[in-house]
Amino acid sequence: MLVAPRTARAAVYDAPNTPFVVRRYPLRDARGDEVLVRVSMSTICRSDIHSYHGHRPNPCPGILGHEIIGVIDQLGADIETDLRGDPVAVGDRITWTEYFHHGPSYYREVHDLPQKSPGVRKYGHDLVADDPHFLGGFAEYCYVLPGTAILKLPEDLSDEEATPINCGVATVVAITEATRIGMGDVVAVQGLGLLGLYACAVAKTRGARRVIGLDAVGDRLEAARQFGADAAIDVSGRDSSDVVAAVRELAPPDGVDAVIEVCGDAAVIPAGLQMLRVGGRYTLGGIVTPHADVTIDANLLVKNWITLRGVHNYHPRHLIQALDFVVANRDRFPFKRIVDARFGLDQLDEAFRKASERTVLRAAIVP
Ligand SMILES: [Zn+2]
Repeated sequence: MLVAPRTARAAVYDAPNTPFVVRRYPLRDARGDEVLVRVSMSTICRSDIHSYHGHRPNPCPGILGHEIIGVIDQLGADIETDLRGDPVAVGDRITWTEYFHHGPSYYREVHDLPQKSPGVRKYGHDLVADDPHFLGGFAEYCYVLPGTAILKLPEDLSDEEATPINCGVATVVAITEATRIGMGDVVAVQGLGLLGLYACAVAKTRGARRVIGLDAVGDRLEAARQFGADAAIDVSGRDSSDVVAAVRELAPPDGVDAVIEVCGDAAVIPAGLQMLRVGGRYTLGGIVTPHADVTIDANLLVKNWITLRGVHNYHPRHLIQALDFVVANRDRFPFKRIVDARFGLDQLDEAFRKASERTVLRAAIVP
């Protein structure tokens, strides 16, 4: 049977800080171990903005966007089930891991860090000229390649609730797991963007007694309360010693059990360390641009038995947990409010501008 050649549109990132250009590329049939997805929605993640501004290396011309959901258009013959073992079929709406790796991996097999497999690739990080062209979110289609874990989405979950799951929410699940947030903990969250709001909600769900959110944007402080924060502290124009004192006052007798950094600014680290009690845990999750140098008093780590660690991306199990968390808690927390603006493919410049200025919380692209 002859199938007419098809093409589809993509908003191409030609170079940092230049306007996106919508171009057409050919679509080919999905191979046996691939899925061709018609993109329903993609959201602009903070790391897309860093790439767009040239703060982190990203191949160009390419298609940015890795927080993507879509409907299966063609399903390779070798794929029968999703990550959980549920059958998948053409027409199903799915999410998938933001990264993929095919073949043996020392990090996956030995250290349980598949996301750090040498040669791992990520959606939104490839040259658009190369086959199969469509490997990013800001396009009408996306190929899901071998080594990607896919997950079917429940029908009643809105696109707005579902799209951030495969980056923002899954990363927060990994961060809060690594921080060992548990019953009775007092937790400070530095930064109340999407990751911070989900961090408040996930920390509460994991049993935190008190969650303290920190940000400089008034709207976000207000939103944090709706996402489970018991207190929200405005850090704008405040001395860091002042902020530390305010947090410690809410965490008697000697500071918080855990601090989560999701603001992306290494300058907050010294203050974060000072918020912790002896034996406290500190996880950095937002600093994704290189050369984030900072000076800390290492003696504080030793003297106070502090655990300091970083978390980047997540294990496929966190994708399942992120989806289940959103499904189970969508009546408790207003997840659908996080994605607060919709744009078409040809409005990507405006969407990036608004997302950069933080006048929208999470911009959605509906191609
Ligand atoms: Zn992301």
